Amino acid sequence: MPRSLAGILFTCPGRPPGTAAAAPGPPLACAARVTPPDLDDVRSRARAAFLGLALGDALGATVEFMTPGEIRAAHGVHRELVGGGWLHLRAGRVTDDTEMSLCVARAIDAAGGWDLRGIADRFVAWMRGGPVDVGSTVRKGIRRYMLDGTLAGPPNEGDAGNGAAMRMVPVALATLADAALLERCALEQARLTHHHPLSDAASAHVGELLHLAILGRGKPRLRRASDALVARAPKLAFEPYRGLATGYVVDTLQTVLHAFFTTRGFEACVVDAVNRGGDADTTGAIAGAIAGAYYGEEQLPRRWLRRLDRAVRQELEALSDRLVALSPLGRGD
Ligand code: MG
Ligand code: MG
Repeated sequence: MPRSLAGILFTCPGRPPGTAAAAPGPPLACAARVTPPDLDDVRSRARAAFLGLALGDALGATVEFMTPGEIRAAHGVHRELVGGGWLHLRAGRVTDDTEMSLCVARAIDAAGGWDLRGIADRFVAWMRGGPVDVGSTVRKGIRRYMLDGTLAGPPNEGDAGNGAAMRMVPVALATLADAALLERCALEQARLTHHHPLSDAASAHVGELLHLAILGRGKPRLRRASDALVARAPKLAFEPYRGLATGYVVDTLQTVLHAFFTTRGFEACVVDAVNRGGDADTTGAIAGAIAGAYYGEEQLPRRWLRRLDRAVRQELEALSDRLVALSPLGRGD
């Protein structure tokens, strides 16, 4: 076992590694026992999170800004990567949700660690490149950075969109399994463009769920984390589901959490989220990331992966492995 994992393990003195917990003997001194993460499984779930983000983005973009009734009339249940939508995308094309996440991932990879200014610079280059879609709050934040070089805007009532929460996959991968580091990096990357307590809370929570799922925790554990979030921020309560799936981060997170906790399986979760319409590429992207991490690579529909933009797919897979390697877990800190 790499020395690196020592910090997250609760080892029981006197018991050799691999000894069955049920073996008879004297009571153990330790109260908690956490199974060490299998790094191959972690890498696989991390890839599934990043690919799941792109698949949900590409699926949802077709029905972005439609109502559930309009989606039913046009598609029945929308469940194929067919492109189109208001952006007239080719099938398998991703949008800003995946592209900005790639900017974050590339910056971390290039620097060999957290590099907030590097992320901001890549956002600038991305926006100058004429992306297919840019959210208004994102545009405002990137313009501010271009003008004054500041890495956070002032707190703003109008910044409660979902544009920061949608970029959390690379942050979660690069901070495995350090919860405090995740929280710091989540808020830093979020406030490049969105400075609002609800965006902060949602971004940090998406990261928290990704960490738990990538480390192989069960759904009850993830649910406890979401319930604790709702206790801290009652506005984010997702049951009963209000049926709103807009770009307001409260609506987005409610849609994602409701989809994740009321379905079984990756495809069912993502299909549920995007068929709510509204900001469907972003609800699909975040739901796809969490569900990908939770259900794993084997559950990513092959027919969707075949359609996903090939260059994007290859880069997501490569960057995912490299970010995990750079993380505290991967480095063995
Ligand atoms: Mg988008
Ligand atoms: Mg969107």
